[in-house]
Amino acid sequence: MTKVFIQTYGCQMNVADSDEMFAHLASRGAQYTENLDEADIALINTCTVRDHAEHRAVSFLGRLAAWKQEKPGRVIIFAGCAAQRLGKTLQKKYPFLDIISGAKEIEHFADTLDASGLFNAPGKDTHQLASGLTGYVTIMRGCNFACSYCIVPSVRGPVKCLPTEDILADAAQKARAGAKEIMLLGQTVNAYQFENTSFADLLNQVSRLPGVERVRFTSPHPIYFTPEFLEAIKDNPKIARHVHLPVQSGSTKVLQEMKRGYTREIFLEKVRALKSCGFNISTDIIVGFPTETEDDFKETLSLVDEAEFFAAYCFKYSPRQGTPAAKMKLLPQNILEERLDILLNKVRGLSDAAYQAQVGSVQEVLLESENKGRASGNFWVKTRKSYPVGSVIKTSIEKADGTLLFARD
Ligand code: SF4
Repeated sequence: MTKVFIQTYGCQMNVADSDEMFAHLASRGAQYTENLDEADIALINTCTVRDHAEHRAVSFLGRLAAWKQEKPGRVIIFAGCAAQRLGKTLQKKYPFLDIISGAKEIEHFADTLDASGLFNAPGKDTHQLASGLTGYVTIMRGCNFACSYCIVPSVRGPVKCLPTEDILADAAQKARAGAKEIMLLGQTVNAYQFENTSFADLLNQVSRLPGVERVRFTSPHPIYFTPEFLEAIKDNPKIARHVHLPVQSGSTKVLQEMKRGYTREIFLEKVRALKSCGFNISTDIIVGFPTETEDDFKETLSLVDEAEFFAAYCFKYSPRQGTPAAKMKLLPQNILEERLDILLNKVRGLSDAAYQAQVGSVQEVLLESENKGRASGNFWVKTRKSYPVGSVIKTSIEKADGTLLFARD
């Protein structure tokens, strides 16, 4: 039996894309392996958002050159965003690559396999991949924004929403295979609209599928959280009360230079509306964007206080070749480091406070191991007793320690 090893870099959309590509390989008789040495096919699904991620994927190719030399019949597939960006230059530099499939071509991956002549005709799809209790379901590809620091629109292209029927079939298949939680994915996931189906309609429909206990989504864009959206989902407890809502900066001036499409005030308005429906909010922040002054940075700090994020992923700005912001003059590294330290300290304090605030509350926990799981608001919870993996329990919270809640169950 042909065995396939998969190395995925980057975001959850890439995890879902790897799953989808593997399904096509599985329908041609391949079986998944975690062991590269016993594999016949190596699939590398790449990320290009940061230089570092792209560099790691390309370096991995160096290791695969020797792997292929051992058995020349082995197949190497290089896919995803870095494959899209680097395109043909890769084939020249790494002639041993068998298939290069960019992020824009993933939906035609079956045709790519057929055209390669390396695989049998598709048979029955018997795939079962490694996402465990969470079934990742891509609902749209691409992005219609043009944030000045971001390479995604040029590698993934404009938004294309998938048909609702296909999404429901994908989610139902994952639920039948054991997923209790469905994670809907898209670069601006809450902009989903297919014919008459809005994002809120889709969330409600997925939540009604047999076996689905919880629905999550990522990454949303603030401007698509409307009062109509909140009204349509507010009474559905299966929609997890957590939103990862990237803000990037607290200064309206910097947000405009980043071309994010909202102001500080609009962002905070969305945060208040989401919190009024019980949503717990985490975010992404970039410090040291080229035009960020000391006052702009202070505005980021004050926004973090006002929004009371329970978690924030904070990054120093680093230019991405091919984006408009890459032409701007960089701030000195020591300023970036100083600002990042200050911000991380603040975020740590807020995160501790958010966990402490849950003590005494009642949480619905989806068990991801026998005695640990995640609450709807995305807090990790440790239970006293053991439960079957995948079960959902309601318990009150006895104490918090760092980023872990302890159940009284
Ligand atoms: S919304 Fe902005 S940051 Fe997000 S993928 Fe689109 S361009 Fe990139």
